[in-house]
This record gives sequence, structure tokens and C-alpha cells, in this order.
Amino acid sequence: MSIRKSERLFKNAQKYIPGGVNSPVRAFKSVGGTPVFMKKAKGAYLYDADGNKYIDYIASWGPMILGHAFPPVVKAIRKYANLSTSYGTPTELEVKMARLITEMVPNVDLVRMVSSGTEACMSAIRLARGYTGRNKIIKFEGHYHGHADSFLVKAGSGVATFDIQQVPGVTPGVYADTLVAVYNDTEGVSELVRRHKGEIAAIIVEPVAGNMGCVLPKPGFLEHLRQLCTDEDIVLIFDEVMTGFRLAAGGAQEKLGIDADLVTYGKVIGGGLPVGAFGGRKKIMQHIAPLGSVYQAGTLSGNPLAMIAGYTVLSELRKHPEIFEELNQKTAYLRNGIDEVLSKTGRDYRINRFGSMISIHFSSEDINDFSSASRSDIPLFNKMFHYLLERGIYLPPSAYESWFLNNAINYADLDETIGKIADFCKSEL
Ligand code: PMP
Repeated sequence: MSIRKSERLFKNAQKYIPGGVNSPVRAFKSVGGTPVFMKKAKGAYLYDADGNKYIDYIASWGPMILGHAFPPVVKAIRKYANLSTSYGTPTELEVKMARLITEMVPNVDLVRMVSSGTEACMSAIRLARGYTGRNKIIKFEGHYHGHADSFLVKAGSGVATFDIQQVPGVTPGVYADTLVAVYNDTEGVSELVRRHKGEIAAIIVEPVAGNMGCVLPKPGFLEHLRQLCTDEDIVLIFDEVMTGFRLAAGGAQEKLGIDADLVTYGKVIGGGLPVGAFGGRKKIMQHIAPLGSVYQAGTLSGNPLAMIAGYTVLSELRKHPEIFEELNQKTAYLRNGIDEVLSKTGRDYRINRFGSMISIHFSSEDINDFSSASRSDIPLFNKMFHYLLERGIYLPPSAYESWFLNNAINYADLDETIGKIADFCKSEL
């Protein structure tokens, strides 16, 4: 496989863009080698600048749940682009979008649209602070809630991939207000709340974590957080940027049967355009400006092209809820196939999966939190990543990321993937 054009593009990109990329993990810094520059994609396949084809397991890091260039989305964007790409005024489309979201997800009376997952989480935290009159928040090690200052403490995703312990530019005051607990450690988080009684505005959690690979909540953990927040008047925020409209129409709240006080969305909600949202019960959401004085705004929030792309995807998911089960079955098939292949190698490994989120850790211990994830054999993951990339399988370029299935993927694609992992095991392990 030649990637000469990608190599040329990357060299040129580095002259004009920091590190040649607009988001750090794309640079392949942790897996090594040259990032592949994509030119187009259709359904389950990516095509790079040199014309190589890949089966896509990142789905643009989640949004492309129905596959790339999904015809109804493309058609709708075209139609709306002809009317204008932005107004800066209210539009009927925003009302339809907000109504659809409130009908699909539990516990959301009011929803505010933003342009990224970062904005959604950052705004939800401000709202929780404004609502409770408290300053501190609790997040979990290895969880990623975007790149706002408050979240860059023991964060997952690129922060973990590049092992950045402290981010220059984040002030000590901000760090002091972010307390970090261990995911799945009920006693640890209770102790933190006890020590800071009356000071905690919010606990923010990825209900199913996806930024240290895929890591599932232990039975009872999220229920414990729910009870703790209720008892201590703390706002429980589910960051459903990854899980929203992916695990079920109503996201992790619906799938796991746990109610959050505020929920944040991104990725699938925008159908591949830059969209995020946060919402919750009126009691809390009414504190947002202009109803209340917790200020939050955006020139391009509710942008018509972004809204119609998201609205089209969400409508499709609502009309065809069987998509979630199809995705679940495909991912289970992939999991079982990989398990069969790896079990013959004598290597230690763990495969974590929830719905259409999945990841492999080469490890002899169960992966329940960030420290277990970070003790896994990351060089071996990187080796597998490159072996597969060179054979047309595109995994996330980091062991600290969940893979996302899209529903355009078919069983032949899954068999091909499993077969190539088997080849990797035979030739490299
Ligand atoms: N929360 C979670 C759980 C995420 O996975 C991400 C992005 N990967 C974000 C927030 C931030 O979203 P964005 O990159 O759109 O700002």
C-alpha cells in the first residue's frame, strides 16, 4: 500500500498547522508513522488521498453511526444550504430539533444547542455551579469531557495518549476546583464527597467510558453516584457525547435505567457536523440566560446545516430503533470473532464492549479504570494498529480510544477484519 500523497500532505500540513493536524490524536504521535489523509468516504469505507480503501472503525469518533455520506443527510444539507448557511436568528428547525431530543431522551425538558461536546460539558458545569452556588466538581481519572480548563486534569483521550500530567495554561485555581476520583470505585468517590461536604457542585461521568478504551461501569457504580448526588444535592452530569443516540435512542440513561440531572451530547447528535447540546429538567435549565443569569451563548449555535444533519440522523434512529440492535449484534459478532482468534495465541488480553463501543487491551487484568488501562501492553496495540492499517482496516490511532461501529458495516467486513487480526496473530505474536 502506498501512502506517498499522505506523506507529502503531512509534510506540507506541518508548515501551516501545529503538528499538521487540527486535533492532536490525529497526528499518529503515539502509534508512530504518518497519518493517513482521507479524501472521501461512503458507507463503512474511507478512501485516502492515494486511493486506498479502509473499513472504518472510528466513524469520525462516533458521529457517523449510519455510515458516511448517508443519502438523506447529504440531500437535506444540500436543500438547506440553498436557503442560507446561517441567520443568527431563531429558526423553526431549532424548535423541531429540540422537541425531537426531548422526545427521544429521558429527563430533558429543555435543551440548549452548542457547537461541540467541549462546549456542552463546559456549559453544563457552569450551570451546575450557578445552580448550586458551589465551586468544585468531581470527574473521573481517564474520562474526557473536552478541552475546557476544568476537565484537563487526569483526562483520557489525547491527554492520556500523550501522557500530559499537567496542561500548561490551566491555572492552579482551576486545578484546585477539579477533584479526581477513580471510575468504578464507589468508596473513593463517597470519601471525596465526605471530605468536601457542601462544596461539590457536580459529578461529571462518562456513564460508559470511551476515552481510555471502552470501560464499562461495574454493576451498582452509577446507581451509587445517583444516590450520592441526591443525598448531597450534587448535580449528576452524564456526559453522553459518545453514548448519546448510540447505545439507545435515549442513550446510557435509557440503556442503564439511571436518571441524570444534566446530560451532554455531541457526535451522533450532529450527524457529522459540529454540534453539541446540554439539557435537563426545567428546574435546573431555567437558570440559563436569557431565562436566568448563567450566561451561555454562541454565534453559530443552532446553525441550520448542523441542525438539519443532526435532525435527519436522529429521525432515522427514531424511525428505525432496530438499528441499535443491529449494531449491537454486529459488534458482538466482531467481539466473539476477535476473542476466538486471540484465545489461540496464549497472549493476555481483555475485550471490553458495550453496544457498538468496543476495544481490546492486551492485559492480564480486567480493565475497570484508568490505571488498569494504562498498564496494558500499548506497544502491542500500536503494532496491531499499523498491521491492520496497512491492510485496509482503520482503528483509532490510540489504545486509549474506543472503536465505534457504524451500521453500514456488513458481516463480510467484520469477517475480513477478524481474518486480518488472525493474520496479525500468526505473523507477529
Ligand atoms: N465528552 C466526551 C465523552 C468525548 O468523548 C468528547 C470528545 N471525544 C468530548 C466530550 C468533547 O467533544 P468535542 O471533541 O466535540 O469537543
